[in-house]
Amino acid sequence: MTISAQSVPILKDNYAWLLKDSETGATAIVDPADAKPIIAAIEAQGGRLDMILLTHHHADHTAGVDEVRAHFNCKVVGAAADAHRLPKLDVAVKEGDMVPLGNAKGQVIDTPGHTRGQINFFFPEGPVLLSGDTLFSLGCGRLIEGTAGEMFESLRKLAALPGDTKVCCGHEYTESNAKFALTVDPDNAALKVRVAEVQKQRAAGKPSVPSLMSDECAANPFLLAKDVASLADVRGKKDRF
Ligand code: ZN
Ligand code: FE
Repeated sequence: MTISAQSVPILKDNYAWLLKDSETGATAIVDPADAKPIIAAIEAQGGRLDMILLTHHHADHTAGVDEVRAHFNCKVVGAAADAHRLPKLDVAVKEGDMVPLGNAKGQVIDTPGHTRGQINFFFPEGPVLLSGDTLFSLGCGRLIEGTAGEMFESLRKLAALPGDTKVCCGHEYTESNAKFALTVDPDNAALKVRVAEVQKQRAAGKPSVPSLMSDECAANPFLLAKDVASLADVRGKKDRF
């Protein structure tokens, strides 16, 4: 049994993610903020959609939900903590809940920091992580509502996932993240390897994600921050970068 994840580029630099259970064909879309390209991508894959998964309430992750739900008559899953500001939820979830997709199950991880009610979904059968705006390749989300302490704890949970986990994040920010990462960690060999890979991928017009959790742990300056104070320091520098 495998869960595959395919990126669907939408808006300026967002990714929605199309998840499919190889055994049953059950399909989910993560953060469908623009209905038209998403409906087209799903129709091209056979037109089945069981579920919409939401990482957080921002419009660049939710704007297409009502239209996609109406088109496929599917369920919408999101954080109970943010039910009041998410599109109408059919299933409200919290840390530790399991979300079935065909024969696979996605584990809900609370990851506050970018927003208070942010959640991520981890499918061990990929392994695949839907990291929303918590963890980006070589970066992390801005602290719009949460604290550095919350983000540190959230990233610590994600870093504990298997190294071969595919990190499927919400934005194509990797090139600018890479430029910043090199300023704070210029001698990191793993970072230099990843930067070269990203430049190649982007020059070829390809997405730079998903990345591997093991690469993020070795090269991402926010995962390398050893305590809350260093994370706050790196976050502050990135905000001024
Ligand atoms: Zn966001
Ligand atoms: Fe976003």
